[in-house]
Amino acid sequence: MATTRRLSASALRPSRSRGSPLLAPVQYVKGVGPTRAEQLARLGIETVEDLLYHRPHRYEDRRRLATIGQLIPGQKTSTQGTVVAMSEKRYGTYQFQAAIADDSGVLQCTWFGQRYLRRLITRGTRLIVYGKVERFGSLVMTVEEFEILTGGEEDTLHTQRIVPVHPATEGLSPRVLRTIIHQALGSHAAEVPEILPADVVRRYGLPDRGAALRSMHFPSTLEEAEAARGRLAFDELFVLQLGVLIRRQRLAGIDKGYRYRAGDEVLREFIVRLPFPLTAAQERVIAEIVRDLRGSAPMNRLLQGDVGSGKTVVAAAALYLAVRGGHQGALMAPTEILAEQHLATFRQLLEPLGVRIALLSGGGRKREREGVRARVARGEIDIAVGTHALLEAGVTFPHLGLIVVDEQHKFGVMQRATLRRKGFHPDVLVMTATPIPRTLTMTVYGDLDLSVLDELPPGRGAIRTYVRGPEKRPEVYAWVRDMVEQGARAYVVCPLIEESEKLQVEAAVRLAERLQAEVFRGLAVGLLHGRLRPDEKDDVMRAFRAGEVTVLVATSVIEVGIDVPEATIMVVEDADRFGLAQLHQLRGRIGRGAERSYCVLLAGMGTEESRRRMEAMAASRDGFVIAQRDLELRGPGELLGTRQHGLPELRVANLVDDLPLLERSREEAARLLARDPALRDPDLAAVHAEVLARFGGRLDALSMS
Ligand code: ADP
Ligand code: MG
Repeated sequence: MATTRRLSASALRPSRSRGSPLLAPVQYVKGVGPTRAEQLARLGIETVEDLLYHRPHRYEDRRRLATIGQLIPGQKTSTQGTVVAMSEKRYGTYQFQAAIADDSGVLQCTWFGQRYLRRLITRGTRLIVYGKVERFGSLVMTVEEFEILTGGEEDTLHTQRIVPVHPATEGLSPRVLRTIIHQALGSHAAEVPEILPADVVRRYGLPDRGAALRSMHFPSTLEEAEAARGRLAFDELFVLQLGVLIRRQRLAGIDKGYRYRAGDEVLREFIVRLPFPLTAAQERVIAEIVRDLRGSAPMNRLLQGDVGSGKTVVAAAALYLAVRGGHQGALMAPTEILAEQHLATFRQLLEPLGVRIALLSGGGRKREREGVRARVARGEIDIAVGTHALLEAGVTFPHLGLIVVDEQHKFGVMQRATLRRKGFHPDVLVMTATPIPRTLTMTVYGDLDLSVLDELPPGRGAIRTYVRGPEKRPEVYAWVRDMVEQGARAYVVCPLIEESEKLQVEAAVRLAERLQAEVFRGLAVGLLHGRLRPDEKDDVMRAFRAGEVTVLVATSVIEVGIDVPEATIMVVEDADRFGLAQLHQLRGRIGRGAERSYCVLLAGMGTEESRRRMEAMAASRDGFVIAQRDLELRGPGELLGTRQHGLPELRVANLVDDLPLLERSREEAARLLARDPALRDPDLAAVHAEVLARFGGRLDALSMS
């Protein structure tokens, strides 16, 4: 019964292609019954394939396990021995203890909170234990992982070799997993289809896929395990690149159904009215966009440019062309404050040219909001600037031609998709200031064309960045006061409280009150946070812009986009709580005018990592350099945002460590598609199926994203 149920459930999963024996439910593996299947499901393992790809998180060389006498206090190691005594501690946190011994000595092992152990472990039990060894009088270990050796035939899988240790779960020990995976490899590894083209396998001298899976789990050397992992990572990245490139191909094949007639003279109308000459980079990027707009396929372009590089004016140019081409445009920003600012900028730049602009945000009166919606729906508004509110079902455009998403890393794939669906194959420009290394960009945003603003407008003052311990706070604030009295404007950024917006707001309120009452008494201190009403946000931003407020205490809501060139000072409280990319964005709020700016990072620098991060901030103003450092220090998750890029999950490959593989896989994927754009070759059936399985509907239903 259970089997059929599971089978039909997985057969219905839309993203899986049917037919491959590897996609059979994991119960097909000998030794896996309903209970095991449930436990495996907790590890995310549902199919035979999931099981084969359940990677060991480490290997243990049990060909030469350290004897107890060889253990070195302070190190994490494995050893084995026979249980000679047990005890329990029942008060407080439950502890189970067992002393194990071999010929060379005795080790006192401790487990926390696992009452069932007293039934499992008795005198004479042979154990392999893994954990940190310490010396407290006697030799002790807090056990992280352990295995019971049975002494029988089946131990050969678990001793005298390099054994894989797989991520396990309650009731499903590494030993059991190892056994099940071994079983699955025996019966299914041979069925694993090759997914790389034969010439690629040959050129790189790769092991075949089934063999690689075997070696990943049961290698005879650690080098073999790494080679196997590399091969499997390559597979995965290859499929990833194929998916991204196919998507790109298909986008390029769409006809948006009209041609732009608005030409260079229209663009010139816009440019001559600007209060500054464009930078060379802006000119280049605008030309790239114009080319896209005039093409037959919808534009899908990523504009990457460091904070302050002047992306807004590029967006305005594109939107102006769209409007003069007879279309509506929409610009979506992640915060109301930023949407308001864009509204003001566009009014200034575009209204004199006859463009009708309106704000669509979540705040304000319902009546007004509906009025704006109605005008947008009637085509009386040319450009709608807004927040997520643009995405609501009630917002419709009769002829939406261009979508701009600002600070796109703050949005998810689905949100962009929703906006896109409000037009018919609209042109899309997404902008981001979170630069990531180029190779990563080409993958994560591989279906987009890339434009880079690699130049800041001239005449920007330098930013000096200082890192100071909390004990220097009084001095720092006294200095800020001096500077403000001499005419400067300053941001004070509150400590980050990620857990709760409410707590965050309270902290901001308290900090503002304290500063106002103490060190900034007599100065005009403003407060800005996410929970203010839109008109309150407006008021305080306007006052800060006008210089009526000279110290702006703010949460990280100011992180994105805020542009007040007169502000030259920023103090960040508890700076080490912020990510590097975020700090870079925050600091990007100053240094926007000609004056020299100062950024003070107040940080306790508790850990080595936070010290390095603060140093990286002080050392560079270049977003690319900082992003690279962030990537090294924290891994890609932080940098890319979780799941927002919408790429399939990677089981083996790692976007940071496998950068060289990423590049190679992209080359190979492009080479293959040049030869066979639709992957029609029967030899490519397996890879084709894999691409479909991993990318699912996102390849066919392009309207989805
Ligand atoms: P970001 O790329 O961070 O979004 P903005 O578009 O907010 O940058 O631009 C930052 C500031 O630079 C704004 O005050 C804008 O008016 C100004 N700016 C943009 N382009 C130029 C230019 N070519 N010359 C001088 N100032 C410019
Ligand atoms: Mg911006």
